[in-house]
Amino acid sequence: MHWFYLLSGVVFFLGILGFSITSFRELEKRAGLLSLLCAVGFGIIWAGIGIAFPEATFYLAVIAWALSVAGAIFLSLPIGKAEPLKIDISKTERFDERHIMFGRMELKEGTPQYDEYYMHLNPEMKKVDDNLRSMPDLGEPGAKYFNKLDSPYMVSIFEFIEKIRHLADPGEPDQGPVSITPEEATRKIKGFGKFLGALDVRVTRLRDYHVYSHAGRQLHNWGQRLTLDHKYAVVFSSEMNYRMVHTAPLLPTSTESAFEYMRLACIAICLATYIKNLGYKARAHIDGNYHVLTTAVAHDAGLGELGRLGLLVTPTHGPRVRTAVVTTDMVFVEDKPINIGVQHFCRICKKCAENCPSQSIEKGEKKEIRGVTKWQTKMETCYHHWRTLGTDCSICLAVCPYSKPNSFYHNLLRFFIHRNSVARKLAFLMDDLFYGRRPRHTEKPAWFSE
Ligand code: SF4
Ligand code: SF4
Repeated sequence: MHWFYLLSGVVFFLGILGFSITSFRELEKRAGLLSLLCAVGFGIIWAGIGIAFPEATFYLAVIAWALSVAGAIFLSLPIGKAEPLKIDISKTERFDERHIMFGRMELKEGTPQYDEYYMHLNPEMKKVDDNLRSMPDLGEPGAKYFNKLDSPYMVSIFEFIEKIRHLADPGEPDQGPVSITPEEATRKIKGFGKFLGALDVRVTRLRDYHVYSHAGRQLHNWGQRLTLDHKYAVVFSSEMNYRMVHTAPLLPTSTESAFEYMRLACIAICLATYIKNLGYKARAHIDGNYHVLTTAVAHDAGLGELGRLGLLVTPTHGPRVRTAVVTTDMVFVEDKPINIGVQHFCRICKKCAENCPSQSIEKGEKKEIRGVTKWQTKMETCYHHWRTLGTDCSICLAVCPYSKPNSFYHNLLRFFIHRNSVARKLAFLMDDLFYGRRPRHTEKPAWFSE
């Protein structure tokens, strides 16, 4: 048997074994076991062929390498058109924050806001919303996963965010603007953002449809027409912990969501305050105190693409991120939207939709909504499920193939699927094979109750 054949066998075997070990470390038992079987099977077949045809082993090893390299080159070629998200700017319009679920849930019967909303703005939702309000709120006793020791993790973090919400607006600058080029301003804001803990920081021009038409999240300014004369938006993400997300729909995933909103709020407030201290106007847009639609801003800045599940799908962490925004009149170098094939992959995948317990994610075609052709998620049924569980569910996010950890094997696959439509089809089949069409949640961390 030629030494090159032996060495090649060891390299291929270790490559497959490495995936198995990585999968076990990620608590993906099915992927770990299957790839372990593949490694063993490969080892037996490779050794058998070597014993049967010892004189041909050199040429066989060369053929195996040639096929592997040719396959990798083919999958990295930009083959197959990846459609971008379709936005018809002429039809875009500002969205009214009063229609979002969390805003509606703040409305109390007998208040002027309640009457205004259900008599004039959205009467057809009164019955549905009254029913939702009658259910236990997230973190309250009565929901399926309520736990008197664990639910307060999430509640405590949101209480903290509520206390710092007013810091979103750092006020007027105390001095005139310092002189800074757009290039230098961009370098500084991205560097500082990442130093503060952001995963990725990008910039776009603030567009009219990024801004809510009316405030609707808090009662003190409910219904106020929103104006934002800032020119740029800095948008950034934070990574949600893979282990915590993979417990979805249990309480750790909600604790993780709350934690990321807190982290983003702190980063956004620091960035807005920094810009103010340079003499420019700025405002942070954080949980419960937004004037902009963060996903629309994030898409236009190229932080990710909009996926079937209605969330941003980023190149390195899929939808396993949360985002926040700072708007300002400081001038930056604008980033562009990206096209990493998410629209095409979502068209064939549908894993989030098929695993959604409340059937809230569209399994069919996209529809044009305010100028954007996208899959529409049903907010009401999704939120009903949240209130039933007492968590923010997040199964869609956990099962998404793009949510895999940021490791060598997943990044290699991401490299191929961002470029090549054949790779996307193969990745879809492999994801089903190794992780299952209906993945199960993993165990909770030990600091959660059984
Ligand atoms: S959070 Fe849960 S209920 Fe809501 S869309 Fe995702 S999977 Fe469905
Ligand atoms: S689970 Fe599949 S269909 Fe859903 S967002 Fe992720 S890639 Fe798209």
